[in-house]
Amino acid sequence: MAKIFLRKNEEKRIKQGHLWIFSNEIGKIEGTISNGDVINVYDTGNNFLGAGFYNANSLIAVRIISLAEDFNLELLIKKKLEQAYNFRKTVYPQRDSFRMVFSESDFLPGLIIDKYNSTFVMQIYSAGIEKNIGLITKILAEEFSAKNIFTKNEEYFRKLEGLALDDTVYLGGMSEEIISDGQVKYNVNFSTGHKTGFYFDQCDNRSFVKQFCKNKTVLDCFCYSGGFGLNAASGGAEEVVFVDSSQEEIKNVRQNFTLNEFNCKSQFIQSDVFDYLENCITEKKKFDVLILDPPAFAKNKKSIPKAVKGYEKLNRLGMELLKDGGLLFTSSCSHHLKEEVFLETVNKAAQKSQKNIQLFYFNNASMDHPSLPAMEETSYLKFAAFKVSLK
Ligand code: SAH
Repeated sequence: MAKIFLRKNEEKRIKQGHLWIFSNEIGKIEGTISNGDVINVYDTGNNFLGAGFYNANSLIAVRIISLAEDFNLELLIKKKLEQAYNFRKTVYPQRDSFRMVFSESDFLPGLIIDKYNSTFVMQIYSAGIEKNIGLITKILAEEFSAKNIFTKNEEYFRKLEGLALDDTVYLGGMSEEIISDGQVKYNVNFSTGHKTGFYFDQCDNRSFVKQFCKNKTVLDCFCYSGGFGLNAASGGAEEVVFVDSSQEEIKNVRQNFTLNEFNCKSQFIQSDVFDYLENCITEKKKFDVLILDPPAFAKNKKSIPKAVKGYEKLNRLGMELLKDGGLLFTSSCSHHLKEEVFLETVNKAAQKSQKNIQLFYFNNASMDHPSLPAMEETSYLKFAAFKVSLK
């Protein structure tokens, strides 16, 4: 097997549990190697550090998959898939739909698998996973009874790895699925949906919100398929207003509301959230509970200052239309926006809207999106719950 020797002192991060080796950290390569092959990694003292998938087309030249020197790749992949699945069944024993594999966090770097009953939707972002996809789909079909397997990749991440941009159906077809998050049912349409079709990352936070919604008026902003508002309805809300700018999503939320046979008051509004909030303020319409779950405003480090302004404005408008003592559940899925900065931003919004805020809960993504403490790249979602009162 080919060998990579790191430059002096570049082994430190790897020894702490980080799983990426950047191309500028490589001292020399011995032997011949193709993209997607496994390579052994050593420090300058010839000490073995780990084995990983190599990709000369990526800035992340090696993604570690094993800390043991001797292993069989097929058995290793099978074991990691089983471990990832078993962990989800430990945290969600009743559920058949969840994020089954979360890339580096499950030691399968560059592989995301969302399981929707027996439909498995993948995102493939490393040459190593791409090379072994035949094996992975075989395991999904044989061991996990997959009926449909296909990819829904995001171009951006494929480009970073120099991988071809098209999606592939490996088994069955791109059907629709009705799934349950344990509380609420959703009709997932894979051809129109975002990501792999559904945002599993907010499931735990949605069921957290549910408990505070009995007899309350609830506004679900950036509702997408309606997860937060539908959970609020299942928690006995008096009224739920869903807002999203996408006509397709508003249609899907209506469908999901009907599917669950909820009978609380409801409104489905296709609008820009900022415009809707400003209208509510002008018309003095107030809510007991407000959910803000916008798309990532900061896509990279450069866009942080602009994103912070966006989050501040959004939260300020939101606080202005909450009743005294109302609850604000506010999220950011921008990886580049750190937790402290997010909380500071919400605090600034409170100052500007003359409110007192009390943080009573903070969470990251749901349990099927574990993160590695040694790799901050594996965490991104922030979810904060505030009681908002008049000063
Ligand atoms: N809360 C959702 C996920 C939100 S994804 C859930 O729990 O599943 C972000 C959503 O925001 C998308 O549906 C997108 O259509 C919508 N969106 C983006 N910008 C918007 C804007 N300015 N106003 C209203 N909706 C917007």
